[in-house]
Amino acid sequence: MAPTLVGFLVALSLRAAVYGSPPGPVVRCAAGNTDCTVTNAYGSFPDRSTCRVAAVARPSNEGELLATVSSAVVKRQHMKVVTVYSHSIPKLSCPGGPAGAGLAISTDLLSKVVSVDLASNRMTFEAGITLRQLLDAAAARGLALPYTPYWEGVTLGGMLGTGSHGSSLFGKGSAVHERVVGMRLVVPSPYPINGYRAKVVELVEGDEDLLAAKVSLGVLGVISQVTLQLEPTFKRSVTNRVERDIGFERTISTFAAATEFGDIIWYPAQAKVTYRDDVRLPISASGEGTNDFIGFRPQPSLIMVGNRATEELLEATGDSRGKCLLSKLQVTTLQETGGGLRNNDGSVLEFTGYPVVGNQSDMQTSGSCLTSGEDGLLTVCAWDPRIAGLFYQQTTISIPLTDIASFIAEVKKLRDLRPSAFCGIELYYGFLMRFVRSSTAYLGKTADSVDIDITYYRSHKPGTPRLDEDVLEEIEQMALFKFNGMPHWGKNRNVGFLNVREKLGAKGDKFVAAMTKYDRDGLFSSDWTDAVLGLGGKSPVNAGKGCALEGMCICSLDLHCEPDKGYYCKPGLVFPQARVCRKTGPPH
Ligand SMILES: Cc1cc2nc3c(=O)[nH]c(=O)nc-3n(C[C@H](O)[C@H](O)[C@H](O)COP(=O)(O)OP(=O)(O)OC[C@H]3O[C@@H](n4cnc5c(N)ncnc54)[C@H](O)[C@@H]3O)c2cc1C
Repeated sequence: MAPTLVGFLVALSLRAAVYGSPPGPVVRCAAGNTDCTVTNAYGSFPDRSTCRVAAVARPSNEGELLATVSSAVVKRQHMKVVTVYSHSIPKLSCPGGPAGAGLAISTDLLSKVVSVDLASNRMTFEAGITLRQLLDAAAARGLALPYTPYWEGVTLGGMLGTGSHGSSLFGKGSAVHERVVGMRLVVPSPYPINGYRAKVVELVEGDEDLLAAKVSLGVLGVISQVTLQLEPTFKRSVTNRVERDIGFERTISTFAAATEFGDIIWYPAQAKVTYRDDVRLPISASGEGTNDFIGFRPQPSLIMVGNRATEELLEATGDSRGKCLLSKLQVTTLQETGGGLRNNDGSVLEFTGYPVVGNQSDMQTSGSCLTSGEDGLLTVCAWDPRIAGLFYQQTTISIPLTDIASFIAEVKKLRDLRPSAFCGIELYYGFLMRFVRSSTAYLGKTADSVDIDITYYRSHKPGTPRLDEDVLEEIEQMALFKFNGMPHWGKNRNVGFLNVREKLGAKGDKFVAAMTKYDRDGLFSSDWTDAVLGLGGKSPVNAGKGCALEGMCICSLDLHCEPDKGYYCKPGLVFPQARVCRKTGPPH
């Protein structure tokens, strides 16, 4: 889930948000399809580096994909899939090997429905299809994919690349990869087959290697096609219920067990919790509601720029309380407007009250900023790097369900010590908590978990401390090390991936074995994927001046923070083993 910094001008933005400018390309080339740079939807990787590649290929069918991979294998060129919008934060879509020598393989033309089997409720898709296209195609056949990310701009291959999910503990849980029953991959071949140095591998249910391919960080090869087990479509009934946060941590497990699509948003500074009571209804239930989440609508650029300027001013003046005022207004407005839910009951108002009932494909996910007509950047997706709007980082960590109450209790201690330090996070939707089940996929979750999404301000200027950053760093380290949390592969700052290989245990070894089997020469691997998989002595962190300010390291020396601005490396307040950059003194 992403941020919602629609701020105190949300009402105005609702009225203005009619058109939109779809995002710009993530691959830009100096000459035709060669000499290119690759970025992500935010226009910046966590280490702020630029990814240069020799060329981009845009195959439009499996045959062309095979030829593309084969030609790169012959040249021993590193490759990586880049999707149409590239929504992952880490540097996942940048090929390995020497800078500027790799190949980006775009899947933007691989977005078709391949086949439909209504007898088994299965559909096969090309991997570049977006979630919205997929859900619409399924719904047109009376089928539904029940659990998915809340943002419809991701692709099928991209969701599988990072283990993306929605929220549910029902059945096999909310991860999209749990619905995969077959896959076709194009992988390097060590010897020529029919003239190609690449081959198509078909995996079906029961194949051990499918457990590696279902969540793969793109290091096995290119996913060409995916068969998903769908189910007959249904309706959903959604009510957002606001409660005080007293003792809520003890309700989480029972809420998750009882609420098929439920999630919880915690606003610690406001001591409030919003439970999303979201349940399944038969398709015959009445209601044509839709979910067009406000934060994913086209946002007026002027307002986004104004909001950002306000946020920067509050940062520069150290005004946590100013953030508290804004976030209170924002949260209240979101609650009163239904957050983007539409009843579609004939009223002139979008939202007339709960419950909002609608078709699964209209309720599960949204993202109208992607598909609105071009309006010359008057309105954009909130994080569009072409305007000086939102710029943020995300810490997204799954905590085992068995530990969640203890984790929240610890965070509450920190909140009680520094309540206003949480207001900045609340400008970006607080702590979004979603449920994901333990997975047999090697890079899937290692336990039934609560996935916590925390989004927060990032300065455009490298090396700039963030207001109250010590509190967030303490929570991050507590989640990762005290509670053994697993990072979301497609989000997080670099520190989120420390010790991941150890946390994966034997599953990590099995994954690496499959990776080596399919891509012996590591042509789909990069420094980043090696680092997160603990290979080749590479590490996701890198100590140096100011490295802890952006999560490029955990501080052990003051110079890893910013002593010139009064930020020193200090122990955590509640988790003393944490080392965080805290403003404790005057600048020197
Ligand atoms: C606004 C927003 C909301 C989000 N909401 C959620 C959410 O609700 N739940 C959640 O879990 N996540 C969420 N995310 C994160 C998102 O789901 C992941 O980052 C996802 O991986 C992005 O998919 P993508 O298609 O953009 O892939 P990318 O980010 O472009 O790619 C991810 C990885 O997969 C690889 N890859 C992609 N396609 C293929 C292929 N065909 N073959 C081989 N490798 C491939 C890429 O090389 C890369 O390594 C959200 C992100 C944003 C920006």
